[in-house]
Amino acid sequence: MIKDNCFCCNCEHRVFVDVGTEECPVCHYVGALSWFDDTEKEVDVNCHDNLAKKFCDAIKTMASKQENLDNFELYLTYHFPEWMKKYANDPESLVAEFVDFATMDIGDMDSRGNGDA
Ligand SMILES: [Zn+2]
Repeated sequence: MIKDNCFCCNCEHRVFVDVGTEECPVCHYVGALSWFDDTEKEVDVNCHDNLAKKFCDAIKTMASKQENLDNFELYLTYHFPEWMKKYANDPESLVAEFVDFATMDIGDMDSRGNGDA
């Protein structure tokens, strides 16, 4: 049996399973696995719908958090070209990365850094 890497749109885990498997071994959701080199367009469309929503939710989250916005801007100031190159063909990772930036607790890190509040 040939195994391959795929990405679960439901739980966002990368899993290594038998080719053709439809159930995610992590969350047991059926039909959310997206194969990297497969022709299962239907799954891909579902996956990208989900990703699009996550991405937009993250944009909304970031827009409401000035510190995160500033941090992201600063990051891109130095890393934009490599960031684009790294994620140009990998929307799953791009969204995961962006969600990290949007949900990062920067205010907390600041207060811990100052220490004398
Ligand atoms: Zn899963």
